[in-house]
Amino acid sequence: MSGTYNPYENMLAVLEDAAGRLGLTRNDYITMTQPERELTVSVPVVMDDGRTEVFQGYRVQHSSSRGPCKGGIRFHPDADLNEVKALAAWMTLKCAVVNIPYGGAKGGIRVDPANLSKNELMRMTKRYVAQILPIIGPEKDIPAPDVNTDGQVMAWIMDAFSMFKGYTVPAVVTGKPLDIGGSLGRVEATGRGAMLTLMSYLEKVGKSPKGMKLAVQGFGNVGSIGAKLMREQGMKVVAVSDAFGTVYNPEGLDIEAAIEYAAKNKKSLAGYSENGLKVISNQEFWSLDVDVLFPAALENQINESNAGSIKAKIILEGANGPTTVEGDKILNEKGVTIIPDILTNAGGVVVSYFEWVQNLEAFMWEEDYINQNLGKIMKRAFEDVWGICQEKKVTMRMAAYMVAIKRVVHAKKLRGVFP
Ligand code: GLU
Repeated sequence: MSGTYNPYENMLAVLEDAAGRLGLTRNDYITMTQPERELTVSVPVVMDDGRTEVFQGYRVQHSSSRGPCKGGIRFHPDADLNEVKALAAWMTLKCAVVNIPYGGAKGGIRVDPANLSKNELMRMTKRYVAQILPIIGPEKDIPAPDVNTDGQVMAWIMDAFSMFKGYTVPAVVTGKPLDIGGSLGRVEATGRGAMLTLMSYLEKVGKSPKGMKLAVQGFGNVGSIGAKLMREQGMKVVAVSDAFGTVYNPEGLDIEAAIEYAAKNKKSLAGYSENGLKVISNQEFWSLDVDVLFPAALENQINESNAGSIKAKIILEGANGPTTVEGDKILNEKGVTIIPDILTNAGGVVVSYFEWVQNLEAFMWEEDYINQNLGKIMKRAFEDVWGICQEKKVTMRMAAYMVAIKRVVHAKKLRGVFP
């Protein structure tokens, strides 16, 4: 992220607060305060017009205490080292909350992919893989999709890595298309996990999703699929906000039609229309009178400038780090429930884990089996977090961090510091 906001500092503040509440000394968790490894690379690309452009790329491995490092790669003009470091740490915590045997990593290239042709994107991706090659691999660090990267980009990553090895290595990356070792259910997994987490919460507080109003920020993989699945639970998706602007329909948007439109329109809802639809401002979006706000775009979206005007009673964090420490404080004081990112959006990495296991076994599972197991893992993680939340009288974010940190610290303790 650009500007003065530092997401790594944001992550550290919560980490230290949670570690303190667990009664840990700094010595217990000191290895979690810095990434194990940070790699910055230059990625030269010969553009279609013959010029050479050089993009800055990163891969950060925050922790391998609980298993191989795992986490996505994003292509974004604001990607920088602090952002990637924070995202890598959140992956460590996320994998620990859902108790899958991974540490955390993240990668990024500072680029606006909308300005590159498909061939330029392919060359950039493959060259980036060459630059981070020594530190990735099925037993070291396994990338996946994130903001502005998809199955096609994962296919290029698999290809580049495999060319260096001299044989095809599907397990080096997850989120691949089905025909090259992808998993059924992976595309929907993050949105499904978010929906399941919200349902678990509503069940606990004795509320029905029927008729509840939802506003979504971000209409990429997580926002669009999450919205669709929540609508299937009887919720009304009244607003969608994205880089194109914000659309509002008090009667509930036709999400399937909107998804279809965006797919044909460079992933944007610009120009989308339906009965009862209004275009509103970004400011109006945050203060809409809705039950659930589903930020599913980037970090730092809910902060001291807009948290005060939020009317939603529940924030379901689909994005990584959408709420700053200041925003969080304001919302907590107002009694808003925040269902935190490291729990809400963990469904993606859970099915990534299933994909990796399938690749290592060279066997394909059925979709029902995948969704059932995703459901079990998300439910168990919710119960773990909810239990701490009730027992220690802390927010769900604090409880999720506490569950995660305890597991990572225990793993580190069992292994001991090398040498
Ligand atoms: N980028 C996703 C996340 O932030 C998925 C990571 C993965 O599947 O490894 O959780």
